[in-house]
Amino acid sequence: MSSILVINAGSSSVKYQLIDPQTEARLASGLIERIGEPEGRLVHRGGDGREEERRVRVADHTAAFAQMVEAFARAGTPVAELGIAAVGHRVVQGGSVFAAPTRIDDVVAEQILEMGALAPLHNPGQHQAIVAARALFPDVPHVAVFDTAFHQTMPQAAYSYAIDTRVAERYGIRRYGFHGTSHQVVSRRAAEFLGRPVESLRQIVLHLGNGASACAIEAGRSVDTSMGFTPLEGLVMGTRSGDLDPSVLLHLLREGSSIDDLDRLLNHESGLVGFTGTGDFRDVRTAADAGDAAAALAIEVYVHRIRRYLGAYLVELGGADAIVFTAGVGENNAAVRAEVCAGLEWFGIRIDPARNASGAGGARRISSDDSRVDVLVVPTDEEAEIARQTRGLVG
Ligand code: ADP
Repeated sequence: MSSILVINAGSSSVKYQLIDPQTEARLASGLIERIGEPEGRLVHRGGDGREEERRVRVADHTAAFAQMVEAFARAGTPVAELGIAAVGHRVVQGGSVFAAPTRIDDVVAEQILEMGALAPLHNPGQHQAIVAARALFPDVPHVAVFDTAFHQTMPQAAYSYAIDTRVAERYGIRRYGFHGTSHQVVSRRAAEFLGRPVESLRQIVLHLGNGASACAIEAGRSVDTSMGFTPLEGLVMGTRSGDLDPSVLLHLLREGSSIDDLDRLLNHESGLVGFTGTGDFRDVRTAADAGDAAAALAIEVYVHRIRRYLGAYLVELGGADAIVFTAGVGENNAAVRAEVCAGLEWFGIRIDPARNASGAGGARRISSDDSRVDVLVVPTDEEAEIARQTRGLVG
């Protein structure tokens, strides 16, 4: 049996899933975190559901992969017997260079590293994982699947910032968009659910997880998205601010903040955390329900921002056939879905409260039968999509 190993690495963590590309079944999965710290953690889950958790000391990404290999062996199947046919790597930033999944050779690996200038929080760790994984599995193809690739179809009007063109070109400053793998798989699955070709649909996908972004999709192609130069622009997120007047940064710099202060503020101390101290939407909702005014305001701003993008994308697309909620909050929080869609009957958007409240899993419709726009919940599965694209490239 052949399987595809999907790697999602960060600067201090490696997540992996072994996926049967035919059935998308998870044959195993795991996580190694706190790489480079005195004490790290490994969790390995076998296909039989048995889980092993242990403390490990992991110096770097190469050591992390060695730990993964040992975990597979302890779970009963040495890596050599897993039938790994290819390795798919999630890469956050592909710049304007990569518009499709790409087989990794030395040159591509180097380009991914160079793009770390645009994505310093992501690409360097992913590059280290690519180097380590290629050394460990030298005989199988490795494929990079980029978060930005799906958005390379955006028209120039949508991806350009209105700054001095010479500065923009010199520094690669434009909107790239992220979460592309999720927007792509979710929009395709929504079309399958509706039983219509994706080419015939105008969709607005709302990916609401810890990170959050909206995407306007026409005929299966991204035409606009809320994340921009980095995953910081757009919606309110767990710890990120989303949209902000850039003058706020200039003001804080003049008032004495350092660049690192601002990075921390915008990426880690803003969004839901900024309002409430917690970035987990469930906790914010619980606090709001208990009468916490800061938590209630956090949700109001969160929803207000989503609706602003929803309105923009309804105009850009000239209407919509489907609005699709996905990721942790989008799939699980009926109240947010109701709040986002409230009062939009004029646009042909009507939620059915009972359908919206149903906890059923899988893709489902939450709009009423007389809603002109189909409002759907469609679970995202980025790893399965990375496996699918990897297999599609290497055959
Ligand atoms: P990531 O972007 O890390 O993949 P997820 O898509 O898992 O994140 O989304 C995480 C968010 O989803 C958290 O804010 C979490 O509170 C929220 N979430 C997860 N499950 C539920 C639930 N049952 N109800 C409400 N929110 C949920």
